Amino acid sequence: MHENDYLQQVANLTGLRHYPQQGPWGKKSGSVVGTRDNYVTAIGFRYNGQNASLVILLRFKRLEQPELVKSTLKGAEIKKGKLGAVGNDFVRWEWKYSFIKPGAEEVAKLVEDLRTAIKTVTTPFDGRCEHCASTPMQSLTLLNGMPMFICASCQERVRNELNQAAEKYEMLTPNYPNGLVLGLGAAALGGLAWGLVAYGLNHIFLWGAILIGYIVAAAVLRGTGKVTRFGQIIIPVLTIASVLFGDAIFYTLIIMKQEHVAFSGKLLNAVLLHLWELEIQGSGVLSLLFGLVGAGYALYSARKPKFQAVFQSLGAPSP
Ligand SMILES: [Zn+2]
Repeated sequence: MHENDYLQQVANLTGLRHYPQQGPWGKKSGSVVGTRDNYVTAIGFRYNGQNASLVILLRFKRLEQPELVKSTLKGAEIKKGKLGAVGNDFVRWEWKYSFIKPGAEEVAKLVEDLRTAIKTVTTPFDGRCEHCASTPMQSLTLLNGMPMFICASCQERVRNELNQAAEKYEMLTPNYPNGLVLGLGAAALGGLAWGLVAYGLNHIFLWGAILIGYIVAAAVLRGTGKVTRFGQIIIPVLTIASVLFGDAIFYTLIIMKQEHVAFSGKLLNAVLLHLWELEIQGSGVLSLLFGLVGAGYALYSARKPKFQAVFQSLGAPSP
């Protein structure tokens, strides 16, 4: 069944409404959104690579101890799907499937069961804005796709706060020397650890290269204080240098062991001079590729933080 028809069916069974294009998961088919017993509910699809999940989100009044919600749900022994995440004001339940979507009736039943389970430890909304707890609210608003009760003045405040955070970030002066020093330190330590671990395990541990990329990126960003072009360039360069350095240590140690020679600057020099030949013979090229994956991942996770609040009313056409 097409996702749209399916969600429409789920909406009918749960007494909620289907909003194509809208909701937390940014899918074309959108989500089923509404409130039941004053619990904000959203149902939709999420894809994570090959895995498809039907996702159910329940929101309630902010509470101090989300652990209680977690343990209550564990104790409820709900058989379909599993707990995705619990926050201060939400629980996300995920039902993974392949090819055949879970039956719409089963989904409706699951939504009921989940709400019933958390009722004892959560407080539903009470028809007022969930931020200021005073303005009466009838309809839900989407904040970056997330349905919530938020009044006009609180929306304005959230927008201002985010704008200020964005301005502050723009005004930060990046500390390049600091970034370089920390980045070099992380690359040197990472390379050393990479070489020693590889020697200890007697083979090159490729995932370590990804880890190095990640650590180098973290160090550079901590040093500079913000994401800059400088960081985006030196992070992959330092990562590759670190992996190469680690490989050089690895090969040096191997030669020392096999040829029974002591460590010397001469030996290290010889290894460095022939590093490329050694890399091509061994799994060096692969380790460089993994290092680049690590750097790429680090760069991706180090992209500029998003300071944007998009408010949208339910049922409104997509911007
Ligand atoms: Zn408010």
